[in-house]
Amino acid sequence: MQKERNPNRVKINLFALVHNLNMVKKLVAPSTRIMGVVKSDGYGHGLLPVARTLEGAGVDCLAVAYIDEAIRLITGGVELPIVILCGLLPEDVLSTVETGLVPVIFDLDMATRLDLEGRRQNRMVDVFLKVDTGMGRLGISCDRIGAFLEAVVPFKNIRIQGILSHLSSADDPVWAYTEKQLVRFRNILYAACSVGLNFHSNSLANSAGIMVDHALHFDVVRPGIMLYGGLPSPDFNAPVSLMPVMSFYGRVLQVRSVPAGVPISYGGTYVTERNSRIAILSAGYGDGLPRSMSGRGYVLIRGRRAPLIGRICMNTCVCDITDIGEVQAGDKVVFMGSLGKESITADDIARWAKTISYEIFCSIGQKNNREYTE
Ligand SMILES: *Cc1c(COP(=O)(O)O)cnc(C)c1O
Repeated sequence: MQKERNPNRVKINLFALVHNLNMVKKLVAPSTRIMGVVKSDGYGHGLLPVARTLEGAGVDCLAVAYIDEAIRLITGGVELPIVILCGLLPEDVLSTVETGLVPVIFDLDMATRLDLEGRRQNRMVDVFLKVDTGMGRLGISCDRIGAFLEAVVPFKNIRIQGILSHLSSADDPVWAYTEKQLVRFRNILYAACSVGLNFHSNSLANSAGIMVDHALHFDVVRPGIMLYGGLPSPDFNAPVSLMPVMSFYGRVLQVRSVPAGVPISYGGTYVTERNSRIAILSAGYGDGLPRSMSGRGYVLIRGRRAPLIGRICMNTCVCDITDIGEVQAGDKVVFMGSLGKESITADDIARWAKTISYEIFCSIGQKNNREYTE
């Protein structure tokens, strides 16, 4: 397969990634450590190039969802500690201990297995205790954490780095729920402290938490989306200026002039209202554009904004260029990125598609050739 012959290109600007990391550093205290979240292939930006850049720019550790990406990082020469955010399956215990990966744990059975394997290999196993303070997903329930600590602390080969919890609503302008999670998190730390347990790497904040309030930072922050220049939700008000890392380009396949009354694309959901010029473009949902932005989104052609019309297809979409100057087959089109004074961000696309930039990055990034600039 000659994938380089595909008309669509994703460009990854690693300089922007470093800029965004510097914005994280600006928001946190100098003593706060940074865990760069690179799960899902670096949010579609490419696991190794992203990880190596973050390592070079001074993050303290990295986080992935599952062990496969941790192994890819190690094989790729990354030397930072790597945290596995979604935990382990029993078959992963041996290699986790062998390679010194740092899993989160949330049940006693896994703690027991890791301790045993640590003893067998004569190694200490570093872990985070994942606590559910209100996310309603993975973790030890708050009311069980006391008993859990009592059971795990005596394990000789387990070293607890810290309590780790995840915020569910830190991007919400209403602070009440985050406050509730913060109070629960603090109470856990007090309770641990009162029985003599002082962990050094407690961690609560994702990107939204980092940007919303210092009180959420604790020892280690875990930025993901903001490193990539995206927002926790499309209308989130960021206190720092983030630079988009990913852009997405395609080509004009055909330019046509059509009269009024012509239905465009599947289902004929759009019908031309006037004599129109339309351009057929080289990407669709199979290339990562969300089908749900059909009839709502825009693209950039010749430095101008052109509205998408009709349904987005698997590998094509259509835009109206009646009001734009000379457009020709072969012209470059920007699906995400800037051209002249105009720009389209992942958050714009996410707003049109009623989703979040995370999903846009994952689908566009993983479906196209990526080219990197430093
Ligand atoms: C994905 C993830 C993050 C990063 O979240 P962003 O919103 O992208 O900053 C942090 N912590 C955990 C546990 C995660 O799963």
